[in-house]
Amino acid sequence: MDALAKEIEKMTSELDQYLLPGTLMDCFEIYRHGQMRKASAGLNDNELSWFLHMLNELHGAADRKDDFDLMFDPIMYMVHHPAWTAPPGLKIELPPLNTEVLKHAEPGSRFREIAESEVARLRTLADTYPDEAVIGLAAIAAAAYLDNDAAIAGRRSAICYLAINASAKLEDYWAADDSLWLKTGNRIVILDDVVAEVKEKLLRDRIANGEEVKANDLVCYKEDEIKFFAFNADKFLLSGKTRHLALCGVCQQAIALWKEKARDAEERMLAAGGERLRLN
Ligand SMILES: [Zn+2]
Repeated sequence: MDALAKEIEKMTSELDQYLLPGTLMDCFEIYRHGQMRKASAGLNDNELSWFLHMLNELHGAADRKDDFDLMFDPIMYMVHHPAWTAPPGLKIELPPLNTEVLKHAEPGSRFREIAESEVARLRTLADTYPDEAVIGLAAIAAAAYLDNDAAIAGRRSAICYLAINASAKLEDYWAADDSLWLKTGNRIVILDDVVAEVKEKLLRDRIANGEEVKANDLVCYKEDEIKFFAFNADKFLLSGKTRHLALCGVCQQAIALWKEKARDAEERMLAAGGERLRLN
């Protein structure tokens, strides 16, 4: 491990919770977790673990989920999504929720058949829970999906929302044939500016690596600085600008990319040199 890598590791290990989002997917995840925390604030840990148990009963043993983050996970439909590599932003295109897909499913279709049987099963499983609790759980799901249009008006609609959107059977169906999802079309969700929020938090808490974080530490490197730092680790360490690298996923990735390019170029040169040696 070179000096730069060591330095970054030392700083990031102390700062993990403070890393500025590096991709649109990071922004989405941070925002989504914040919304989930807000939605679940009124429920205690006991209630939450009973709810998770109930939804795992619906899922069946093969599809158990360890937390609500995974249970209500829009990302399971997003394996090849461009947000994994796109820069941080405020707008994300998400796959449609199953409750939207349902509107495009013909009566008597396989989708409707699965959806109806999931709703009936959850209705039985949720039998002992009061309306308020079931509605509260559906609100957590809507928060996790960033669904502003969730039409949860009472027990009945809450159970439909949960059973259809968190259904493992519909996920299997999607994996086998996603044509209904494609027909429904994606939805656009607007995120809060989580980059600004994390920066604000960093400045407020003011401690990183035992030192105060200054506004300057939150400014991204310019393109030529990134190249320079990637090729001159020693000079970078003396530049007085190292703190930002520990804080910023975007700049970490940009520098890593240049270091990789440098390594490739070096290997190509060595290979070409070897070729020449053999020719001589
Ligand atoms: Zn940066």
